[in-house]
Amino acid sequence: MGFLIEETVYCPYCGEALEVLIDPQEAGQQYTEDCQVCCKPILFNVGVDAMGNLSVSVQDENETY
Ligand SMILES: [Zn+2]
Repeated sequence: MGFLIEETVYCPYCGEALEVLIDPQEAGQQYTEDCQVCCKPILFNVGVDAMGNLSVSVQDENETY
């Protein structure tokens, strides 16, 4: 059981603001989800900063290879 955190991220392809729900238990994980606007796969990195706050970064899937 945990709270879902709502975060706003920006699509690396089209720049659209997207609201995503993050499960704190996913910290340290990566997952891919298609942009709701341009339908391209966005890689989400879920992490925790030094303050213990959940943070989400997104990147172009192609940059990982
Ligand atoms: Zn997009």
